[in-house]
Amino acid sequence: MTAVMIGQNFKYEIEAVLKLFFPIRSFNFIFLRDGEPLPEISGDRIVLSRRIYSGCAELCSYAEIFGESVSLKNMLRVDSPDFEHSCEFSLCELAFDSLSRLTGITPAWGILTGVRPVKLINKLKAAGLGDREIEERLKKKCRVSDEKIKLALETAKTREGTVSALPKNGFSLYVSIPFCPSRCAYCSFVSQTVESFKRLIPEYAEKLCEEISVTAELISGLGLRLDTVYFGGGTPTSLEPQTLDMIMKKIASSFDLSGIREYTVEAGRPDTVTEEKLYTIKQNGGNRVSVNPQTLNPAVLEAIGRKHTVEQFYEAFALAKKAGFSAVNVDLIAGLPRDGLESFKASLDGVIALSPENITVHALSVKRSSDLMHAENFKLGSAEAAEMTAYSSRALFKAGYRPYYLYRQKNQAGNQENVGWEKGGTVGIYNVNMMEDIQTVIAVGAGGSTKTVAGEAKIDRFYNPKYPLEYIKKFDETVIARKKEAAKRLSEIIKEGDGK
Ligand code: SF4
Repeated sequence: MTAVMIGQNFKYEIEAVLKLFFPIRSFNFIFLRDGEPLPEISGDRIVLSRRIYSGCAELCSYAEIFGESVSLKNMLRVDSPDFEHSCEFSLCELAFDSLSRLTGITPAWGILTGVRPVKLINKLKAAGLGDREIEERLKKKCRVSDEKIKLALETAKTREGTVSALPKNGFSLYVSIPFCPSRCAYCSFVSQTVESFKRLIPEYAEKLCEEISVTAELISGLGLRLDTVYFGGGTPTSLEPQTLDMIMKKIASSFDLSGIREYTVEAGRPDTVTEEKLYTIKQNGGNRVSVNPQTLNPAVLEAIGRKHTVEQFYEAFALAKKAGFSAVNVDLIAGLPRDGLESFKASLDGVIALSPENITVHALSVKRSSDLMHAENFKLGSAEAAEMTAYSSRALFKAGYRPYYLYRQKNQAGNQENVGWEKGGTVGIYNVNMMEDIQTVIAVGAGGSTKTVAGEAKIDRFYNPKYPLEYIKKFDETVIARKKEAAKRLSEIIKEGDGK
């Protein structure tokens, strides 16, 4: 498809809008100055132009798809506030409306192509807008559906308590365990299978412990307060209990855990969960675990290459409940291959019946590096995934859950979203802090990304090497060197008095 941009270059946002309607098409962009002749174009096209005259900008869209066409126009005064941005937004609106008419598709998130709709709501609230005004704006200006507006507004409300209790100079510690028992077909993480990388684990764990000690030393004396700990990956419970114990003990002896609000260990794969591991987690201060079946349909589990059974999930969940964690999270995915609406409903209803404190519903997102992307006959379902997430919102609200975090990714089934739900005041604090960029996250381990936050516009990132072997080999020159840089940056932030 050809996109012609005349008198403007708002390619980034326009392309994001085009992708809402044609997620797998590629676009050939042509840029022309106002008055330059239009080249001969065959096939589907959209022409978006800006002409400025007599103190006004005339913004036009002409779209021709499948042999049918729509023309739309808008005028803006050049002295209107934030003129460039207003022109960009207006052209996006025109492109959206033209394509919506021609394709009959109405994306539920409307023109909102960014990944964090709740951030936008927070911004509008901070600017003094009330719920009704925000609702109006999202509906009329951004074309967001009523259902998604409700979801986003509720999410913004639920996370408020967590955000207002954010400690001064607090930080979260992320611990990366990039190992899994086997690789799931939709996965794009760099996690290594335990089977093939077993020999690396002892050295990896040792280096990880060293990084934890060095990090604690580097930031000691800065007055930082540990707020949450999060073990992710990979599958942290793919480690043996003794290894898990060693790492958790190292954390306890290196940092002051007395003020933490949450300590999560992902126990994602049910086939890695044992009573002994859960006991180890609990004994070392863990108070939240995540056990993730993704579906309760055995045929779907098989299709996504997740090598565990539905029964193993039920057993792992029962063990986690018995261990007495403050919160157990369960993840499901909408839009998986071989899943259908009825089967998804049965999975969700089955999970709700277990009454976990947290349920996270993801819309399938498939990246290039996943096996699924290269599987024959794989198509990222659209309409059905939208029905699944719509059902999950209705069912979860009805069951007394409240959404507390929400984000979107590229290439998500049906252009939907991921939502974390909680009940009984069990908001997953790390998830909120992380998603909203409101707290520094110090990450240790392969693939860890340390993020220092000094206000929304002042975020710096320090990356550890991605792969375990690389992490071990480049430990001093890269891992420790970057930790020193991050600690220096944190010290500056504290001195500036900006530490959140
Ligand atoms: S368990 Fe999670 S991280 Fe591991 S391969 Fe499966 S999806 Fe990827």
